[in-house]
Amino acid sequence: MKQMASAGIAQQLLPAAGALLPGLGAVASQLQARRTKMSHSEATNTFILEALEHLEYPKRLRKLLLTPEREVAVELALLRDNGEVATFNAYRVQHDNSRGPYKGGLRFHPQVDIDDVRSLASLMTWKTAVMDIPFGGAKGGVTVDPNELSERELEILTRKLVQALRPILGTYEDIPAPDMNTGAREMAWIFDEYTKFAGFSPGIVTGKPVWLHGSLGREAATGRGTVFAIRELLAAQGLGEIKNKSFVIQGFGNVGSWAAQILYEMGGRVVAVSDAFGAVANEHGLQIPELRAHIADRHSLASFAGGVVIPKESVLTVPCDVLIPAAIGGVIDEDNARDLQCKIVAEAANGPTTPEGDAILRERGITVLPDIFTNGGGVTVSFFEWVQNLQNFKWSEDEVNAKLDRVMREAFEAIWELHTEDKIPLRTAAFVKALQRVTRARVHRGFD
Ligand code: NAD
Repeated sequence: MKQMASAGIAQQLLPAAGALLPGLGAVASQLQARRTKMSHSEATNTFILEALEHLEYPKRLRKLLLTPEREVAVELALLRDNGEVATFNAYRVQHDNSRGPYKGGLRFHPQVDIDDVRSLASLMTWKTAVMDIPFGGAKGGVTVDPNELSERELEILTRKLVQALRPILGTYEDIPAPDMNTGAREMAWIFDEYTKFAGFSPGIVTGKPVWLHGSLGREAATGRGTVFAIRELLAAQGLGEIKNKSFVIQGFGNVGSWAAQILYEMGGRVVAVSDAFGAVANEHGLQIPELRAHIADRHSLASFAGGVVIPKESVLTVPCDVLIPAAIGGVIDEDNARDLQCKIVAEAANGPTTPEGDAILRERGITVLPDIFTNGGGVTVSFFEWVQNLQNFKWSEDEVNAKLDRVMREAFEAIWELHTEDKIPLRTAAFVKALQRVTRARVHRGFD
């Protein structure tokens, strides 16, 4: 078996010792016994432990691979427009840089905490590895509701974040990117602030505006990659094409709305979408370009005339071929996994399925395209942006999209092969492939 051959490299260098790790069910139930809900990082680690067990890696590798290399917590003070001083907690977790500089997004969200960021940083390590992009994994976030700040306040907060994290960032050290509630605007501020200290540094951050050293195709990349991932799975399962298949999308921000647009262009029927405020459905398929224009005009989903309003909580259970969670983590769990009415869950969001929810989906024969592969298009085109910045060169959008297509196809082939040969779920296969690549890099770099 292919992955065993690679696992053998690590085992030759680090001979096996200790008992094998417990399986997904055992780990999940141990954690469940301790508390009712797993934290985000416990949930992520549950999946990693299952893959480690499959690889039969020695137990001592577990700590090495699961523990973040650096965690930084800072407090940002902001003079608000009303003259009050407000403070915000912010974090950057650098999980692993065995394969290249730390890479990962910055999230602005009221629910950001260190555990959340730790879990997302770990996912980035496995994501860059499964996509075979020469980066490590990191993540950052500020505990803030950006809707409560003016644009001026947001800009100052973003600049303060760069000032606080500057010692650990760098074009070859740690490169942030957009995530929830951050986009090209914030990335431009980060580029500008860092450049004040270090001189012209376009490669310090990705996801910048196209007119300010950003890459063509980056904004749509995560949604586009998600669609490529679904296309590959449908073909591999003999289920045909995207055309005429039905899709439901939770989250209509960068990732969700671009996935919807590209599915629409390919003849897919997007029958329901939701965001943090509401949901809209149309069994014949929503007119996505009109819906995107409606949202861009600052109207709500619920006020869109081309569909019927449904409760946003019910979007996950709308019947469809493919359900795409593209919002927040932990939304598919033991309480609702039995109610899903889809054949495939394509995880565009990070960590949308809990281990308990995942176990139910497996039992029900619903295929899950795992986040570390499905939403890997974003970091892939971030890598392309970084390369263009280092070269002071610009690729065409067609070139970017074609390269993204190739990376998504190759990553899919690698995990599909493991999935079929070893009869393991696609999620386990993705983690196995990623663990092999990270371990191999770590071992071959040595430990002195
Ligand atoms: P975004 O801020 O642009 O959009 C998030 C969307 O989710 C918004 O429409 C928001 O209203 C909606 N939302 C928030 N809470 C919700 C809830 N409880 N129910 C339904 N909808 C809700 O963020 P994004 O960049 O599109 O990121 C979405 C997800 O994709 C996140 O999990 C992020 O980590 C992941 N992701 C993003 C990228 C990227 O390139 N932007 C890359 C990889 C992964």
